[in-house]
Amino acid sequence: MNERAVILVVDDEISNIEIMNAALEDDYEICFATSGEQALEVARSVLPDLILLDVLMPGIDGYEVCRMLKGDMLLADVPIIFTTGLSDQEAEAKGLLLGAIDYVTKPIQPVVLRARVRNHIELKRLRDQLAQMAVTDALTGLSNRRRLEQTLAVETARLARTSDWLSVIMLDIDFFKLFNDTYGHPAGDRCIAMVASALNRAVRRASDLTARYGGEEFACVLPGSDLDTAMAVAREIHAQVHSLGIPHTSSTVSSYVTVSIGIATARCLPGMAAELWIANADRQLYLSKSSGRNQILGDTFASASPVPLRDAAAGA
Ligand code: GH3
Ligand code: MG
Ligand code: MG
Repeated sequence: MNERAVILVVDDEISNIEIMNAALEDDYEICFATSGEQALEVARSVLPDLILLDVLMPGIDGYEVCRMLKGDMLLADVPIIFTTGLSDQEAEAKGLLLGAIDYVTKPIQPVVLRARVRNHIELKRLRDQLAQMAVTDALTGLSNRRRLEQTLAVETARLARTSDWLSVIMLDIDFFKLFNDTYGHPAGDRCIAMVASALNRAVRRASDLTARYGGEEFACVLPGSDLDTAMAVAREIHAQVHSLGIPHTSSTVSSYVTVSIGIATARCLPGMAAELWIANADRQLYLSKSSGRNQILGDTFASASPVPLRDAAAGA
């Protein structure tokens, strides 16, 4: 990754900002704030990779800014290094307990500042990479099941505010055990990766998610999509897989690799469990398999037992 990391420098004294800027500007994009209020505003708009935060400032002080950043979902993981003239251990402990990652004392020594910033930026890169790997399927690069379940939970809760539609598509490669037996496991892996790329070509909207659910099974989350829209996406997935033209001589439904598809669609209502979409899509997929494979089946469903508004509000 060659992109330069962005560092937000917060200090009410311009001379301090100048010293830190001079120490860091060759290696990083620097932005500034001269008050706590401005720091929060800039942080929210640029999402920096690291924040150098002055403790003593008029108005909202550094501790309070730190507390607010840690309570902000988007900014909670941005490393904060406190900078202050106070060199007593109590102040240092307070900053660290609030979630700051490190501490540098003024007057700033450029060599020390550069080294600490470099170390923490490197650690943040590794943390971000790990977090990304934890939700990515290694073979296909699609989201993995964990990310699918997270997204589904977030989207069902979000769409419940407007009773909007949400569709889940599940698909499974037909006779894949026979494919492995015929062409070997490595060819099977390549087939899975190719189906994943076909899936990404068919599912284009930025808000849609494509995931490898397990083995040779995939799922898509389509927020805001009713059954007709999801059906059109499923037909495109089916067409894209067909156009891969991967030979499958052992399949009894086609000479090429095919998929069976199931769709579940419902309006999101407060208290509806995200798992309902998976269970219903899985049922449609099962029907698609048992009634011939290489086809698409979908249906809308309603929450089995609508949660009374009172309970929904209490659970919110
Ligand atoms: P159906 O049409 O009913 O879906 O039959 P199927 O053979 O596709 O389904 P089954 O569940 O019987 O077999 C799935 C096979 O997928 C078995 C398993 O070895 C294979 N598989 C699962 N994950 C992978 C993988 O990562 N790579 C490869 N090459 N094969 C895998
Ligand atoms: Mg100050
Ligand atoms: Mg299968």
